Amino acid sequence: MQKNREAWDNFTKNNPIIWKENCILCDYPKNKDDKELVLKNFDYWIVIYNKYPYWWTKDHLLAFPKRHIELTKDLNNEELKDLKNVNTFINDYFKNKDYFSFLRETYSGRSIAHLHYHYLPGKIFSEDITNILKKQKIWET
Ligand SMILES: [Zn+2]
Repeated sequence: MQKNREAWDNFTKNNPIIWKENCILCDYPKNKDDKELVLKNFDYWIVIYNKYPYWWTKDHLLAFPKRHIELTKDLNNEELKDLKNVNTFINDYFKNKDYFSFLRETYSGRSIAHLHYHYLPGKIFSEDITNILKKQKIWET
């Protein structure tokens, strides 16, 4: 059962990032509610509906490795190979609809340290990325 994103945002205000010792993605699913969110269980990855989707879209999917990994550079060859199966599955899931994915390559902005890809329906344009970059102010130092 998916829940209101606001509940997650309120939770993360006091718990800015969930580290390995309290990881909610390790040993997933841990309970019946989590089990209902599982879309596909691969050898090395799990694809789920996001429990707290952005903008109430049911099709906000997450894919994460079963092993607790935090950075893509730490994925091993088996996990990288299985990621192709994940992406084939996701592509079939969205069929002919537009979708895009993202992940955070560092910890800033993450609420869960465990590596996870977001997949969302819709289109992403260069001006969307420009707006993200404008907020960064990384070139003003
Ligand atoms: Zn984990």
